[in-house]
Amino acid sequence: KQSSPAQTEFYQAVEEVLRTLEPVLEKNNYYAKHSIIQRLVEPERQIMFRVPWQDDSGNIQINKGYRIEFNSALGPYKGGLRFHPSVNASIIKFLGFEQIFKNALTGLPIGGGKGGANFDPKGRSDAEIMRFCQSFMNELYRHIGPNTDVPAGDIGVGAREIGYMFGQYKRLTGKYEGVLTGKGLLWGGSYARKEATGYGTVYFADHMLNARGENLQGQRCLVSGAGNVAIYAMEKLYQLGATPIACSDSTGTLYHAQGLDLSLIKELKEKERTSLLRYLNSHPRAQFIPISEYPSGGHTIWRYKADLAFPCATQNELTTRDAEALVSNGCKLVSEGANMAASQGAVEYFLKAGISYGPGKAANAGGVATSQLEMAQNASMQKWTFEQVDCQLLQITKDIYLRASETAREFGAPGNLVLGANIAAFRRVADAMIEQGVV
Ligand code: NDP
Repeated sequence: KQSSPAQTEFYQAVEEVLRTLEPVLEKNNYYAKHSIIQRLVEPERQIMFRVPWQDDSGNIQINKGYRIEFNSALGPYKGGLRFHPSVNASIIKFLGFEQIFKNALTGLPIGGGKGGANFDPKGRSDAEIMRFCQSFMNELYRHIGPNTDVPAGDIGVGAREIGYMFGQYKRLTGKYEGVLTGKGLLWGGSYARKEATGYGTVYFADHMLNARGENLQGQRCLVSGAGNVAIYAMEKLYQLGATPIACSDSTGTLYHAQGLDLSLIKELKEKERTSLLRYLNSHPRAQFIPISEYPSGGHTIWRYKADLAFPCATQNELTTRDAEALVSNGCKLVSEGANMAASQGAVEYFLKAGISYGPGKAANAGGVATSQLEMAQNASMQKWTFEQVDCQLLQITKDIYLRASETAREFGAPGNLVLGANIAAFRRVADAMIEQGVV
């Protein structure tokens, strides 16, 4: 903390991991002897750069760009790019740190990285988005490559932004290669990548339910967010017989007791890029609660009665008070589509209450795993079918669940997937680092 002050989210992520690693570190001093913790928390490389661009009125705008190449013990750096005004060094660092463990858990050969910019895409024209993405790539291109660092999307970065960045990378380097994932289906993208994080989070929930002798059929669900992860989580919930009854965006929370109209939500968020409030024009009986009316210290979405909860918007979007409300309303499972969605207090509350809790690095790892499948297709000049990719996604999420739950049992904490996921991922990364020497 002394060498990097004011990185609140990064410390939160590190503390959560270190606390759960105590049993493996105490077992013997092998990892301590190799100073693994000290090496793990220090990124291999952090890049910060200026992103100048011109808006439609001819004004020059300046943003800060970031790429953190955190750990390459298991493979090329891999992790998304986030464009959101809240982005800063701490946010990128926490996301990069989480990514190391998440990627290790998939069992695939990918290291951990993350990046983004404090750019706010809201209200910007397509031409402005394109100019921003091109300027961002004008610096980023020299640091990335299909075998070194392969960025993907995250908040504010979807197929449109990946397209503009890919075009600029190609122009700067003259190379048509798998340097980004989440690409369009016409030009190197993988089937099911767009859906993968949301689908994966629901598959993970299903594995947790199966372990309790239950399944998704008939379950009523709360899904925060209304972006890429939330939309495809809701789609998979409907496909597997569950009903999403509430979702949210940065303007408020939408509740529709009979089940959300997903095709309308796709229209509003993917095409029109507008507020969920507009849903009421077609469904006047639904409720919309603006964020100005959220309960103090919490979020409206977690106050509805439901069986399952899927936080799919952003970090720390589920507080201790939200957790208490969820559990007292009978919620029996939380599966995180977003990274570090639940606060530390909320996580502790879930574990004490004994409900099933899937932490983001395990429950949303289907997204990055499918990105790796996109890399594999690009490298071998192949294109697999939707079913082939989806089938692998289902198997990978099952393997992650088993890895985390078996490790939790091994360390005397059955059902604690936070501990299980952290230890299973840590051992993989730490052992690879030790075998590669002091580098
Ligand atoms: P999107 O930008 O597509 O969607 C984010 C959604 O969350 C939007 O509906 C947005 O509202 C809402 N949101 C974002 N920030 C806030 C905030 N501070 N307060 C309230 N609402 C907010 O992003 P993704 O769906 O891709 O990402 C969502 C989460 O999933 C993130 O935590 C990301 O790190 C994680 N994740 C994403 C992966 C992926 O493959 N995309 C992979 C693994 C994890 P609005 O619509 O108004 O903008």
